[in-house]
Amino acid sequence: MNSSRNYIKDTYPDILKDSFSDYGDGWIPHVNKITDTLVHRVNQYNTDNGTELKFHINQIKQKFGGLRYYISFYDTDGVDNDFITNSHKYVWDMEFVAGFICEQCGMYAEKRGGGWITTLCDGCYNERNDEDKDDEFDEDIIDGTIW
Ligand SMILES: [Zn+2]
Repeated sequence: MNSSRNYIKDTYPDILKDSFSDYGDGWIPHVNKITDTLVHRVNQYNTDNGTELKFHINQIKQKFGGLRYYISFYDTDGVDNDFITNSHKYVWDMEFVAGFICEQCGMYAEKRGGGWITTLCDGCYNERNDEDKDDEFDEDIIDGTIW
């Protein structure tokens, strides 16, 4: 699996419409694999059916702790609607799978509540909570007040 953040931009420069990507490093291999699968699937369809279907990735980001991978198809002349629907379903399923991948390190994860929702493994979640405690401690010192 490819874990480079620039992989999509470098490999499929025509597909990525918005190079803005706002998600953690732990999701990079997953996101790259989704893209590889979609490209392969569309190319295979075009080869089999003599069509010229293409797609853009409009945006990839994290929202409410979940992966959002937005694509739109174009040049759909002669393309079976089911193919496009199933391609979207594939993306939705993979967004769901991202809910079990730590956004920080890629290990098995769960959705975490609290101030803001994130998808983190136990290790990264505990680390984050420790950092929060440190922040609070710093604030106390700045205030010059001991509570
Ligand atoms: Zn983690």
